[in-house]
Amino acid sequence: LSLPETEKTGNRVTVFVRVRPISKKEKEADSRCCVTIVNPRDVYLTEFVNPNGYLRLKRIRRRHFTFDACFPDSATQQEVYSTTTSELVEGVLQGRNGTVFCYGATGAGKTYTMLGTVESPGVMVLAINDLFGKIKTRSCDGNYAVHLSYLEVYNETVRDLISPGRPLVLREDKQVMILLQQGNHNRTTEPTRANETSSRSHAVLQVVVEYQVRDAAMNIIKNVGKLSLVDLAGSERALATDQITLRSLEGANINRSLLALSSCINALVDGKKHIPYRNSKLTQLLKDSLGGTCSTVMIANISPSSLSSGETQNTLHWADRAK
Ligand code: ADP
Ligand code: MG
Repeated sequence: LSLPETEKTGNRVTVFVRVRPISKKEKEADSRCCVTIVNPRDVYLTEFVNPNGYLRLKRIRRRHFTFDACFPDSATQQEVYSTTTSELVEGVLQGRNGTVFCYGATGAGKTYTMLGTVESPGVMVLAINDLFGKIKTRSCDGNYAVHLSYLEVYNETVRDLISPGRPLVLREDKQVMILLQQGNHNRTTEPTRANETSSRSHAVLQVVVEYQVRDAAMNIIKNVGKLSLVDLAGSERALATDQITLRSLEGANINRSLLALSSCINALVDGKKHIPYRNSKLTQLLKDSLGGTCSTVMIANISPSSLSSGETQNTLHWADRAK
């Protein structure tokens, strides 16, 4: 995949879109498919249903979007991993930091993309497997150390999902899926909306790789690289983030960390000097993993169903703004 040169002076965020398969429920509700991927980079929104269910085929805000790549519902987990994240894993082994986000409404496929299932493991699991595979072929004397933490940001509180108090030292990749699934099970659920499990919490997996090499003069040089993989909270409450200020947030039931992340990403791609990392817990956690020499990847997850076309349009606009 060859990436286009950016016209902007700021940091480049690589932005992908993944369309999930239409669900049984969506089919039964007689919804149509409203998303078409016309070529590997272009996605087209074909119809729009307003909240009253009234089908509007004429003018909508915008229909056509171009990204670094668009994955159709037939894309495999491995394809998504290879195109979006494998390069970042290589970078981490060379001492660089990289971050991958999944953004989108609840039910759009973020957790499937990040965590996946036992049969079809997602980006988090494939990245760790790949990392260990690469380390095994490179380390002759066990000079690599891998630390892992899996944190939740919920209501501006950070919670450890697998090993409270300290990062876990990972010795091999065998148990990673179970570990992460258990962690995911510990995510905060919303008591008032049982069917929207963990829709308001962000799950942040950070994998730190430390290794020592000797330079020509046989001095030991220590390198550290960090990969952050983030399953963001549902974006449905983050509507119209351009108009809302952080101060007007509190009563509005909008996710502060998600909004602060948008501000940071917009500031980065616009080439601003000041990046407002301190505005939320999520952006504080990712301070050393966004901007600068870090690689940032965004995967925007969308449903193909016309029932979700409003959310899909919001997600595509948001993703377009992150480019
Ligand atoms: P989110 O985390 O964005 O709320 P999920 O990842 O939980 O959404 O996805 C909602 C449902 O759709 C889940 O049952 C999930 O297994 C399924 N799903 C999502 N993406 C895919 C996909 N690419 N292929 C198959 N099933 C998917
Ligand atoms: Mg989820």
